[in-house]
Amino acid sequence: NTETGFEMKDILGIIDETPIITAPQLELWKWIADYYMCTLGEVMKAALPAYLKMESSTKELINNYKSKYQSYVFLHPDIDSEKKLNALLDSLTKARKQGQLLTKYIELASPLDFVSPLEIPKNELLDKSGVSESVYSSCEEKGIFISVKKKTDRLKNTAVALKGLPELSPAQQKAFEELKAASKPVLLHGITSSGKTEIYIRLIEEALKEGKQVLYLLPEIALTTQIIERLRTVFGSKMGVYHSNFSDAERTEAYNNLLKFNPQAASTCGEEQLEASRGEGILGVRSSLLLPFKNLGLIIVDEEHETTYKQYDPAPRYNARDAAVILGKIHGAKVVMGSATPSLESYYNALQGKYDLVKLSERYGKAVLPEIRTIDMKRAYWKKKVVSNFSETLLNAIKSALERKEQIILFQNRRGFSPFVQCADCGHVAKCKYCDVSLTYHKYTGALTCHYCGYSIAMPSKCPSCSSPNIKTKGFGTEKIEDELSLLVPEAKIERLDLDSTKSKYAYHKILSGFEAHAVDILVGTQMITKGLDFGNVSLVGIMDADNLLTFPDFRAYERSFQLMSQVAGRAGRKDKPGEVIIQTTTPENPVIRQVIKYDYDAFFATQLNERRMFNYPPFCRLTVLSIKHSRQDILNEAGNVLKPILLKIFGKDLAGPEPPPVGRIQNKYILNFRIKLKKNASIDHYKDLINAAFTQLKSEKKYAGIITVADVDPM
Ligand code: ADP
Ligand code: ZN
Ligand code: ZN
Repeated sequence: NTETGFEMKDILGIIDETPIITAPQLELWKWIADYYMCTLGEVMKAALPAYLKMESSTKELINNYKSKYQSYVFLHPDIDSEKKLNALLDSLTKARKQGQLLTKYIELASPLDFVSPLEIPKNELLDKSGVSESVYSSCEEKGIFISVKKKTDRLKNTAVALKGLPELSPAQQKAFEELKAASKPVLLHGITSSGKTEIYIRLIEEALKEGKQVLYLLPEIALTTQIIERLRTVFGSKMGVYHSNFSDAERTEAYNNLLKFNPQAASTCGEEQLEASRGEGILGVRSSLLLPFKNLGLIIVDEEHETTYKQYDPAPRYNARDAAVILGKIHGAKVVMGSATPSLESYYNALQGKYDLVKLSERYGKAVLPEIRTIDMKRAYWKKKVVSNFSETLLNAIKSALERKEQIILFQNRRGFSPFVQCADCGHVAKCKYCDVSLTYHKYTGALTCHYCGYSIAMPSKCPSCSSPNIKTKGFGTEKIEDELSLLVPEAKIERLDLDSTKSKYAYHKILSGFEAHAVDILVGTQMITKGLDFGNVSLVGIMDADNLLTFPDFRAYERSFQLMSQVAGRAGRKDKPGEVIIQTTTPENPVIRQVIKYDYDAFFATQLNERRMFNYPPFCRLTVLSIKHSRQDILNEAGNVLKPILLKIFGKDLAGPEPPPVGRIQNKYILNFRIKLKKNASIDHYKDLINAAFTQLKSEKKYAGIITVADVDPM
């Protein structure tokens, strides 16, 4: 083709009979590519499950996506009466495991219908009864059970009894009405346990009734587990789930379900709710924003302040919360952003009238906000009132909560055993070979691991520098807390919830349902445990080390600290039992800690906003960070000097840098950052081409061709 300069190719075959991308979806993709300075292809790559991706999709691959078969188990029809069943149970007293399996079946299938006994997925039955496949096989041989293989929707769940909706409290009802009446995107500022989720459920119900689709965004997979169970009891399987722990087949299925959504036929309720999802709704993390919705009526962004809504690597470096507002505009859908601790940006937007603001400032029911205390760790050390990493006060509170049979959450924002190890004789600290960070000691794996690149070595027995055997672990992470606790309160059952303990697919579910069922007394975790979880029996929350949060080198450190501490505090006293929160810190007089203790969001907001104004940070400017990376520091520094005048010409005094970030080398690449602070109403869109041209100009010089360039718009 002479016009485009591209050579035309013949079409060999058609992979998809119908489009796999919807018009509103494409519109959002384009906006993301534009605003966050990446290519449309990068957005597409993030959006499509591998099965649907062009680069890997030959026809075979698509056809390889086969339906999954699952075994379902039901009671043998010969056992057709209560009497026979009891006789059978009696006969199994010796075969304990078989009895266990049968009892579990009866429990799950209850009330038992002897004519058509409930079919239960075999893996679920085995899982819940805790017996092995071979136990099941012997039962089948004895004629107790029959199993059938059936084609299943991967996402279909077993039937649940649909419950009616609970009545809203007057405060909830008022907020609900205000949310319905809102004409702009709306921020729901509701304190922890004020019943926001219950209100979301009402809004979802209304949208579904109108035949519209619903998107419910959550910041973390850990949360989807609990909330999906709450939603399932109301909406059956109308709400599908979508997250990164899913296999590609499951994601493809969720994707295809949305494509099958038929806006005209959607508004049916009742019996059909139990059918597999037909694309009415999705509950999911960040990337579910990019799915093929056709007619969204409602988007919920729960815990809107969470930084996990922002993707950093790879592109698209988008913030799903902000992009949700755009998606809402595209569909004409209501957008509700909820939080007990709104981000400064969103709250500012609300005060400026860009968003509507709805407040909910009391806890649901009899629950009251827990009392928060600080323990001055400097004084405690000095008075020798610290055991391991526990102040005497916290330890005593833990013991008495255990005595009262109440549960405890302990928060430490570091995983692993200790963040660094040091030789007591020469001071040598073990560092990552590829990054400028110390290696974290993990006791369970016996390894020193880099949290930036995954590099890992065995814990050395001698110092590599002076051969001294005197290597000490310094600081503490979740593993160490867990370890110390098992010595301090040996009677307690302890679980850990962090990135390391949740690597396997159902780990979240296992840990959280164990805690829910009170099979676990104390849950130790990183920020994963701070948000959204709802456990009625937690009466004590301990924040192990507030200093570690407050001293993080970032302009959002205070905001993050306020949010994390308030959120984790909010896990206590959610039902009728009052809760207690203890914060361990060496700086109890820190203003942020004072604001947390007093639940004073307004004071927090006012002081932080003031700082942002003084130092010209978001929401007073639009921040964009340009990074250049290279394996050789000298080449990188030179490149920084080459790029600087080019960028200065474009941005003038809005530009700062080049400057290395706090971790100046990651995965063997040195990093330099430029910061651009544009006026609030200016948009980076206008500068996109200029920035790209500057990057291209730099890389056109052979010496700098290997430089990696990154633009991060609205970094978190
Ligand atoms: P939030 O999302 O604001 O933290 P939740 O929606 O989780 O709060 O509500 C806190 C607790 O109160 C939950 O256990 C929830 O089931 C219960 N709850 C909230 N509203 C109601 C209601 N209207 N009726 C009965 N229980 C409610
Ligand atoms: Zn040494
Ligand atoms: Zn590393």
